[in-house]
Amino acid sequence: MPYYKNEENVTNQNYEPMNEILSGKICPYCGNPTEYVDSSVIYGRSYGMIYLCRDCRAYVGVHKGTDQALGRLANSELRKAKKEAHFYFDQIAKTNLINKIWHGYIPGISNRNKAYLWLSKKMGIPREMCHIGMFDVEDCKRIVVICKPIIEEHGNERNH
Ligand SMILES: [Zn+2]
Repeated sequence: MPYYKNEENVTNQNYEPMNEILSGKICPYCGNPTEYVDSSVIYGRSYGMIYLCRDCRAYVGVHKGTDQALGRLANSELRKAKKEAHFYFDQIAKTNLINKIWHGYIPGISNRNKAYLWLSKKMGIPREMCHIGMFDVEDCKRIVVICKPIIEEHGNERNH
């Protein structure tokens, strides 16, 4: 079971390692501490810092200008799954499509945040735990299952 879906059973004892996974400090695959290194280790040129587990070939970038990880470390399978999830989710979150599928007006919220709120309800997880950077492969596949039919439906509308 993914580590964040068990909210009600969370105790202080197991909450800390979860935070350390989501903040990139611990590798979710092997459980070892990660290294904080320049991304040139991976890419050959620098795109900023990353949290890296060499053994698992897993890594994650940081929010610009901080040492804050974008989420948990991802291996190549998860990186691929996240890319696909973003491909579909972004077509809802980065366009006006979210306002077409959810007419409710929420003051002071960006389309992107509204889309994440919508997604968290669809997936049945708390909003603060709903970010693609925090998701595993199964979660990413669920995003595709949720978003793809909506995009196809609205794509068809345009063609009529
Ligand atoms: Zn590892």
